[in-house]
Amino acid sequence: MGSQLSVDESVKVVIIGGGFAGKAAACDLKSNGIPFVLVDMKDAFHHNVGALRASVESGFARKTFISFEESFHDNFKQGKVVGINLETQHVLLESNEELHFSHLIIATGSDGPFPGKFNQISSREAAIQQYEDLVNEVKKAKHVVVVGGGSAGVEMAAELKTDYPEKEITLIHSKVALADVDLEPKVRQALKEILLKKGVKLVLGQRVSNLEELKMNKACENTELHLDKDPEVIKADLVICCTGLKVNSACYGTALGDKMGNDGSLRVNEFLQVDGHTNIYAVGDCANLTGPKMAYLAGVQANLAVTNIINSVTGKCLKPYKSESPKRAEHGVAEDCLTPLHSPPYIAEEHQSDLRTLLKNAELQKPPPRTLLLF
Ligand SMILES: Cc1cc2nc3c(=O)[nH]c(=O)nc-3n(C[C@H](O)[C@H](O)[C@H](O)COP(=O)(O)OP(=O)(O)OC[C@H]3O[C@@H](n4cnc5c(N)ncnc54)[C@H](O)[C@@H]3O)c2cc1C
Repeated sequence: MGSQLSVDESVKVVIIGGGFAGKAAACDLKSNGIPFVLVDMKDAFHHNVGALRASVESGFARKTFISFEESFHDNFKQGKVVGINLETQHVLLESNEELHFSHLIIATGSDGPFPGKFNQISSREAAIQQYEDLVNEVKKAKHVVVVGGGSAGVEMAAELKTDYPEKEITLIHSKVALADVDLEPKVRQALKEILLKKGVKLVLGQRVSNLEELKMNKACENTELHLDKDPEVIKADLVICCTGLKVNSACYGTALGDKMGNDGSLRVNEFLQVDGHTNIYAVGDCANLTGPKMAYLAGVQANLAVTNIINSVTGKCLKPYKSESPKRAEHGVAEDCLTPLHSPPYIAEEHQSDLRTLLKNAELQKPPPRTLLLF
């Protein structure tokens, strides 16, 4: 715990987004006694590193959602931020409520399809139920198709085959190499071999041309998937989409559009302040920083943003961000300072498939990637 600081009563920090970055900032502000409000669409922190395990194992999702209110009480507000007024220094919620800030931390992260991501206005119980529903749909299906062979799709296919070796699992990917583009070719090749050895059928270099028409995550016999190059029609009982993640820029696009990179992430200076704004910080997946997009690093950046807010209001020098090596990130990701401390393990020991271990080890050897990384 940091010591309680005495700051000017005009100081009020608003954090948009309670993912790994936002909750780390909130923990820090709380322990330093700085007034803050954390805003998230969900009423619970989602440990989404375990999201795909929660899609196949009943009861696991409950370990991956942790109530914000228990940790942050009145400092948490459930709501969707729809805009930022830079002039009046207000954050606008969908409910029309406005929250004034002296300092703003933008931590809206990235978005993608369920089950890899769960960015919805939802209660903890409803979120858990959605994963339990998917577990039941998986149980019913004889043939599951995973669309998208990036890191999430590879992990999803492996989770399915690990728990259900008897089910037919097909992974369809638009490229020939699987997983993250920045992984070494030999690692991507090894992943392919492991999946094949486990019995996953791979359809590579092809796109599903009727993806928009398909009902995802719901068991439905003889669902037909059409490919863009091959006339073969794949029939499945369940389709799970694991296609690419995108930076979640919706709430700041209007106010800070001129500060955004091509992928929607916010350009920040060495102190993690958004270009041209000394009181607005961007951290985690939505910050335009080099280095892997990882849970642990999101937390490190959030901690630095809070340090710099404290330093700026107490007349001290700001600290620059030094990107950390993926190795450190790999080991630190399980850190979680939410109270009560009941976050799930980074990856439960018994579920560490050889495939995931390989991916994680590979992460240690590769240079920092330019794109979003899932592992
Ligand atoms: C399937 C999967 C597996 C992964 N595995 C690993 C791993 O093994 N190791 C690792 O280090 N990283 C892993 N990652 C990456 C890691 O999850 C991200 O780097 C990390 O979540 C980034 O944290 P963040 O706080 O920046 O963003 P996010 O976790 O995306 O959180 C953003 C939060 O902001 C909220 N939000 C967004 N917009 C609004 C709005 N307008 N109003 C209110 N709230 C809003 C969302 O609800 C969400 O809670 C994985 C990612 C996925 C998808």
